[in-house]
Amino acid sequence: METCVERGAAVATADAEWSEAGLRCRPCGQRAEIIGHVRTAVANDAAVAERKLRGRAGNVARAHGLVWSVTAIVFGCSYDHGAHAAWLVPLLAVPAVVVSLAIVGRQAWAYWTAIAIDVAAVALPLGAAATAGSGDAWMVAGLAATVPALLLIVMLSLRRRQRQ
Ligand SMILES: [Zn+2]
Repeated sequence: METCVERGAAVATADAEWSEAGLRCRPCGQRAEIIGHVRTAVANDAAVAERKLRGRAGNVARAHGLVWSVTAIVFGCSYDHGAHAAWLVPLLAVPAVVVSLAIVGRQAWAYWTAIAIDVAAVALPLGAAATAGSGDAWMVAGLAATVPALLLIVMLSLRRRQRQ
């Protein structure tokens, strides 16, 4: 007779199973095997979810980084006929890159920064249109607000998935 490591019960040598944990009776061996399968499955699910989240954060960061850097270049080069482009473009572009990289790193502050910028970028043209009050102004504002609105949607979706 042997002793099961799980329950300390006596078990016939013929019914004993050897494992890394030691000698087990057959029911304990089967139970350990099932628990092992479940653990592996949970770990695999977590790994898949983590990979998806990483990919999503990368996509959201790329989209924001692209829009922000293009905005920085366009604004920096057009402001005062580009007279200040040499310092204005990097001044705007460097924080944009920093925040984008922090989104890749899934930093909460970067998420909130991006959300704040997206909301402002949606609100500003709409506010300007409301002030102007013309149909044309609303159309231009609608077009201008579309891109930040899309960025805001993917950003909020990423944040929601990360919290799950
Ligand atoms: Zn046992």
